[in-house]
Amino acid sequence: MAIVRKYGRPDLFVTFTCNLTWPEILNALENRQRPENRPDTVVRISKMKLTELLDDILKINVFGKVIAYIHAIEFQKRGLPHAHILLTLDPCSKIRNKDDIDSFLCAELPNQSANPRLFEILSKCLIHGPCGTVNPNSPCMRDGTCSKNFPKALNEATEENVNGYPIYQRRAREPVKVEHEIDNRWIVPYNPRLIRLQSNGGLLNNDEILTLLDSRYASDPEAMWRLNEFSLRKISCNHEVGCSLAKPTASCISKWPRSSSCCSSFHEAYNINCTVSSEPT
Ligand SMILES: [Zn+2]
Repeated sequence: MAIVRKYGRPDLFVTFTCNLTWPEILNALENRQRPENRPDTVVRISKMKLTELLDDILKINVFGKVIAYIHAIEFQKRGLPHAHILLTLDPCSKIRNKDDIDSFLCAELPNQSANPRLFEILSKCLIHGPCGTVNPNSPCMRDGTCSKNFPKALNEATEENVNGYPIYQRRAREPVKVEHEIDNRWIVPYNPRLIRLQSNGGLLNNDEILTLLDSRYASDPEAMWRLNEFSLRKISCNHEVGCSLAKPTASCISKWPRSSSCCSSFHEAYNINCTVSSEPT
């Protein structure tokens, strides 16, 4: 809440999920091993890829300049590491109009012949369902309708603010046969550049629902993540936020950096990355 009070509401919510078919994982397996036999390898590669993703976001600035971020790791019942990342952008990088939204997010299938790789990834990983009349027993179904509101309505152009949310462009196109017929109403919004970065030449093939139904409630990855002492959360801040959180009176702010012991202990306790590079005036 202190981050939100200081920098305002986050602008972007990014999810990151471990993929057992990443080539780095498959290439590390021996003999007849399966990825679930090697949680140590799975979590190490997941951690490296998460770090790489955060570098792309925070250092290469794929979304513009990020002034604050929070990410948390979850394992959920299927056992694979999964990160939720909240990003607050610098005022110059804010997403203000529908052109900005379209430059970051897409909710349409790419042209299969022009972008075969992206099409392959999306058709495997970012199609919701099937649910509704095709599959009334889908886990997302509540009282006969999809709890995630799929299929979404078709929309010729992105709308910026409908009850506080953007409505993404989902143009009417000929349905495509994947496992069942789908069109743009069933696409989970994505960022094409991050999809390419995450796939990294491998084939994403993580059917979360099927994995859950198979009852593979593996806790090994979570155990390995913790045994490796990888952080489960990280919060960006400047010294002022860190100190005020650690010490509501914020008396140490004026003393920094001469006496920053409360800052250090706060940063250590919460694994906070202090981004201030100059002494406050
Ligand atoms: Zn659904």
